[in-house]
Amino acid sequence: MKPVIALVGRPNVGKSTLFNRLTKTRDAIVADFAGLTRDRHYGDGRHNGVEFIVVDTGGFEPDSTTGIVKEMARQTRQAVAEADVVIFVVDIRLGLSVQDHDIARYLRTAQKNVLIAVNKAEGMSESPMLNEFHELGMGELHPISAAHGQGIRSLLDAALEGVEPESEDDEFGASAMDRPIRLAVAGRPNVGKSTLINTWLGEERLVAFDMPGTTRDAITVPFERDGKKFELIDTAGLRRKGQVFEAIEKFSVIKTLQAIADANVVVLLLDATQGVTDQDAHIAGYILDSGRAVVIAINKWDAVDAYQRQMLDRSIESRLAFLKFAPVINISALKRQGLGPLWKSIEDAHASANRKMSTPVLTRLLMEAVEHQQPRRDGMYRPKMRYAHQGGMNPPIIVVHGTSLDHVTDAYKRFLEGRFRDHFKLVGTPLKIELRSGR
Ligand code: GDP
Ligand code: GDP
Repeated sequence: MKPVIALVGRPNVGKSTLFNRLTKTRDAIVADFAGLTRDRHYGDGRHNGVEFIVVDTGGFEPDSTTGIVKEMARQTRQAVAEADVVIFVVDIRLGLSVQDHDIARYLRTAQKNVLIAVNKAEGMSESPMLNEFHELGMGELHPISAAHGQGIRSLLDAALEGVEPESEDDEFGASAMDRPIRLAVAGRPNVGKSTLINTWLGEERLVAFDMPGTTRDAITVPFERDGKKFELIDTAGLRRKGQVFEAIEKFSVIKTLQAIADANVVVLLLDATQGVTDQDAHIAGYILDSGRAVVIAINKWDAVDAYQRQMLDRSIESRLAFLKFAPVINISALKRQGLGPLWKSIEDAHASANRKMSTPVLTRLLMEAVEHQQPRRDGMYRPKMRYAHQGGMNPPIIVVHGTSLDHVTDAYKRFLEGRFRDHFKLVGTPLKIELRSGR
């Protein structure tokens, strides 16, 4: 599971600036897409090969008892409870405040590993102002400048101490297809995650089995279906009841993000009666960022009429355009409809994400594509493609070699992507095309 770092502090100390700093270095699998709405509160970061999740809790006032502020405090508590490390951000220029003391008192009760980031410390890291913050009694102080990028490395070194980087090559081998398919059902509250999971786990053809020595702290339910092994990662709040599992409703964005990161295939569950909401689009954005294989399942299909179905198609087309590669399956978890096609799509998406593509075949396809349509000349430059090879799996990466390739247009890249997708029948997985120019 990816470690989670929560940023806590009163308003204006620089939390969102720090959030941007921690999340921007990450190399996104897919660049900016139209319609991709980003959630400014949850992001992915990477430091020394360790991937982590950052949560910006917004302005935090621990004692608020009313309205929106109370709701923010509740969300902050949840984020702190789920975090592995809390970075408590304070402002060296404003000094210690009553609010800082309140937050410190709260964090002590939360019994979390807390680091204090003393922000806006550019040119002031030796300042006596720093010592004031020792009063908080929360250990070592880390002077940083979120705006200027100072002190960030050592802050992250401390935050991620003892966390080992995940070995990435483990997916890039013959055995990826032999291991159980790790499956996560992601969706906002009430779309029907628990119902779907319970329906699955209640299916006769699906045999839950015990896996000895599971070291992960998240609940995963291993099961077999038609001779294929799966592991379901908890996103709906699974609870073991004797020999069976039961899903209980307890939505958490952090658990969803971790489950997505940990999965091979993500089922994005939507509610047909509600259309595509902002929260759905956010979750879809996390999935795109993760590079995971994905299938979109529209649940409660039994409860909508022809007109609503039409509207739904349109809202998926416009709001989830960036997941165009994902198959869309209509289901009813309640009435057990569409579940066969859903399984098939899950298996296809997994196979697509792990497809092996040989250099000769990729190169032949590349040459055929170029013959069909040349990349456009850009002023003095005429891009020339020479050969292609597979640079990775899960998601698949195709590396195209040639000269002047930085002059290839995005439209041409999409054209190539389409040709490769068609040939290898890639569905439900992102496909990354990398262009590399030699001399
Ligand atoms: P938040 O409310 O805690 O999320 O704070 P913001 O990230 O919005 O920052 C509040 C203000 O502090 C903005 O005007 C930032 O430009 C400024 N700020 C953030 N980090 C630094 C820093 O490292 N140095 C200085 N001098 N200003 C900063
Ligand atoms: P979760 O919060 O995503 O786990 O959603 P639940 O599984 O608790 O479902 C929320 C509500 O939607 C419940 O009242 C379910 O009975 C209902 N529901 C779930 N699946 C379906 C379906 O396929 N059709 C209809 N009509 N209702 C459903």
